[in-house]
Amino acid sequence: MSQEKTIAELLIENRRGVCGTTFLQHYIPRFGGHIFNLRHEKKWDIVKERCDLHEHKNTQWKYRLIKSDTTNYNVEEGQTYSFNLN
Ligand SMILES: [Zn+2]
Repeated sequence: MSQEKTIAELLIENRRGVCGTTFLQHYIPRFGGHIFNLRHEKKWDIVKERCDLHEHKNTQWKYRLIKSDTTNYNVEEGQTYSFNLN
C-alpha cells in the first residue's frame, strides 16, 4: 500500500481529523508532501487545524478532510477506488 493511499484512507476514516503524530505512527514522516499532493493533484479540501484530539504539550496539527462528495482516488494504474464522503 502506498503511503499516499494510507494517508487518504486515514483522512476518510477519521472525519474529525488526523493528527500529525498519527501519520508518524504509520511510519510516514513526510506526510506533508503527500497532503500537498492530495490537495493540489486530487483537489481534496484538507484543512490544517490545531490538534484537539490529544493533549499535547506543544502545538500539534491535525489535517481534516472537509470535502463532502464522492472522491475518486487513483491508487495504481487501472485501479480506482471510490469513497463516499457523505
Ligand atoms: Zn494530536
